[in-house]
This record gives sequence, structure tokens and C-alpha cells, in this order.
Amino acid sequence: MSSPKSTPRTHENSHDTSNLSHDEKRQVHENRMDRPPYTVDEGEHGAFKPIYKGACFCEKVTFEISRERPLEAKFCHCEGCQRLHGAPFQWAAIFHKTDVRFTSGSSELIYWHSGTKSQDYILPCKVSCKNCRTPIMDEGRKMLLLFPTLVKFGSAAEKRRFHPSCHIFYERRAIDVPDGLPKWRGHKGESEEMVETMREEHGGANI
Ligand SMILES: [Zn+2]
Ligand SMILES: [Zn+2]
Repeated sequence: MSSPKSTPRTHENSHDTSNLSHDEKRQVHENRMDRPPYTVDEGEHGAFKPIYKGACFCEKVTFEISRERPLEAKFCHCEGCQRLHGAPFQWAAIFHKTDVRFTSGSSELIYWHSGTKSQDYILPCKVSCKNCRTPIMDEGRKMLLLFPTLVKFGSAAEKRRFHPSCHIFYERRAIDVPDGLPKWRGHKGESEEMVETMREEHGGANI
């Protein structure tokens, strides 16, 4: 199945750090523990006030979030998300890196960089638990996309704060989601909005 060249197949930003030299890449990797969300700032200067806690499936990797609502939340139907998550679409919530901190297991993570198809720590990359392989987040250069399914919400009202504003890469969908939310063909605001339909043959044709 071919797709128009103007339609990227994944949500990932092509401006990544893969053009750095080998030494520079190694330095970015080695220095990551000095930067959020990998740092655990427990000193008296720490302004971090955790609101939510989350964990991977095996709970070796745990984290906290200090922002009440994500900057944005989306369902992404791109093929990268479908394949890498083994799911019809991905639910991601965007945060500043400083809004999130790992509380355990930050040295027990594995990385995946789609552009180079490698486990190198090249941004943007996918970050997963080394033990249970649960995807934890997509780490960009400035922001991160955390997967709210890992957050231990205390109530339905808390969970609603993470409710997506829209669907992106809806053109690539495995299934129709007639939920009334805006549906973008590609990236939000950079592609056409699609009319919501309920086409039973769509999923059948794709699967
Ligand atoms: Zn795990
Ligand atoms: Zn995606």
C-alpha cells in the first residue's frame, strides 16, 4: 500500500540528534542522568511537587508527574505507534521534561530510535522498561510524550484531565473511533481535518 509522499507515516519529528558524531551521541547518552526526567531532585531546592504516580507493568520503573494536566493529549494512529505498541493507536500526554521524574528504575530503561533502527539514545526515541518492555514514554528533544495508561489515577475525574483533545494520523487508523473529537489526517494543525465517519469496511479492509 503506497501513501502520498507529503503524508508522513509516523508522528516523530525528523529533526533528531542522529546527525551528531559518535562521541557526541555517547555524551548525550551519558549526560541524560543529569537532566529531567532522569534526575531525582530531592534536595531542599526541589520545587517538584508530585501529583500523580505511575509505573511500568512490572513496577521496576516508577515515576511521578508534577503537572495537574498535560500540555496536550492525543490519540495517535500512525503506523509507528501501531507497530511499536502492538495496539490500534497510542494514547500520549505531552509534558515538559521537568514535569516528570523517575523515582526508580531510570537506569533500567532501554531506548529505541526509529530513524536509525537502533537502541541508541538518540532523540526523539522510545523509552521502555528493560525488564517487562512496557513503553514508558516517547522522549523528544524538549518535551516528552508519556503514556497515561501507566498512571495510577485516583478517580475518573483525574483520568479525564488526560483526555485527548483529538486524533492524529487518523488516516492510518485500524478502526474508526466515532467519539466526536477532531480527527486530523496527519499532525494536528498541519494537515486536513477529516470528517468523522463510521465505515465498517475500513477496519476489515486494513486487517
Ligand atoms: Zn517493567
Ligand atoms: Zn504516532
